Amino acid sequence: MSHVFPRHCHAQLPTAVGGDGCYLIDSTGKRYFDASGGAAVSCLGHSNDRVKQAIKDQVDRLAFAHTGFFTSDPAEDLADLLIANAPEGIERVYFVSGGSEAVEAAIKLARQYYLEVGQPERRHLIARRQSYHGNTLGALAAGGNAWRRAQFDPLLIGVSHIAPCYEYAERAEGESLADYGRRAADELEAEILRLGPETVMAFIAEPVVGATLGAVPAVEGYFARIREICDTYGVLLILDEVMCGMGRTGHLFACTGEGVRPDIVTIAKGLGAGYQPVGAMLCSGAIYEAIANGSGFFQHGHTYIGHPVATAAGLAVVREMLEHDLPARVQSLGGVMEAALRARFDQHPHVGDIRGRGLFWGVELVADRDGKNPFDPAKGVAGKLKKAAFAHGLICYPMPGTRDGRHGDHVLLAPPFIMEESDADLIAERLSLAFNGVLR
Ligand code: PLP
Repeated sequence: MSHVFPRHCHAQLPTAVGGDGCYLIDSTGKRYFDASGGAAVSCLGHSNDRVKQAIKDQVDRLAFAHTGFFTSDPAEDLADLLIANAPEGIERVYFVSGGSEAVEAAIKLARQYYLEVGQPERRHLIARRQSYHGNTLGALAAGGNAWRRAQFDPLLIGVSHIAPCYEYAERAEGESLADYGRRAADELEAEILRLGPETVMAFIAEPVVGATLGAVPAVEGYFARIREICDTYGVLLILDEVMCGMGRTGHLFACTGEGVRPDIVTIAKGLGAGYQPVGAMLCSGAIYEAIANGSGFFQHGHTYIGHPVATAAGLAVVREMLEHDLPARVQSLGGVMEAALRARFDQHPHVGDIRGRGLFWGVELVADRDGKNPFDPAKGVAGKLKKAAFAHGLICYPMPGTRDGRHGDHVLLAPPFIMEESDADLIAERLSLAFNGVLR
């Protein structure tokens, strides 16, 4: 009997024993093309020599030194490299071990910033419905996924949720993209005014929505208006790039491509690329200075922040990405992926939408294309597709539909940046086999 506490108590999972480029290998020798990088994690594939060597070298030099006593070379070097390539105004990096920790740190930093600058009444956080920002209680409270929150709601801090920018499902007939983007963004202003502008500390959103909606970029103009609203009311803009950041959309920071400047930005997943658990919360110079010149102490921390081996892995990952200009490769492979997906699924009676950026793609499934009606969530369509694709040697990330809003089942694709052009067809072909089995 296994003593591991698995995600699904009754699941019979194969044992992963090896990784080879874009493939994972189980104990029977079966090879799976990892078209979702787990959940948008393994951006360099599973056998990157440079990252593996960096980890080994760092363990030999120094495994751990508590950040209450020491800094370390890999943490300093990685912070320098990130800041040299960060969005305008971002000047400091706080390393953590993953995405939820990065979001927790961001929420607490926003609160502490307003205490330090003498505005203690600013305590409200605004987020968006159908979003996911992590599973710890603060990050879960920020997330607007009704299903994930339901059991824990009595334990969650109060967060307001406005509509996401989800053009496929929420743009009204005849409404222009610009009008829709403005309408969706203006919900933020309405919510700030409802709460009282002097009580709102921050708004959090993903520049390209990953988990929950499935690779949904905002329409043009949406984030420009969001930034304008935040500036008008002194609300900090937290951009959560845990899933869409680190090259995934074709830019090291997704917000650069989307043309929006954050006050705080979170990254994880692709930063460690699966080789080490590492994430970061980056903030503007202004926020850092307020704390440095105020109490001088960010009231936060975990034992493993700034871990030398984790940051050494992150440093090797980002160097690999920049030296090989992988974001540019992602942009060109993105076009190939889109073409392959559209060739197979554009006319499929149960595919409502294909959208994405770079190597971050979502395929939204519908019961009927004309009405854009999702499948009954009880049918578990996304879960069945995951299983069918797995049987065909393809790993894709299923997103089950829920009854909040019109959000239906999706499949998320986030393949490694090292994939070849021909792999786009392989992914589409195996996904198509899975569709044929499940959506007859
Ligand atoms: N934020 C976003 C946008 C995510 O997609 C995720 C994970 O999927 C998280 C935060 C939480 O990250 P982690 O699972 O590393 O805690």
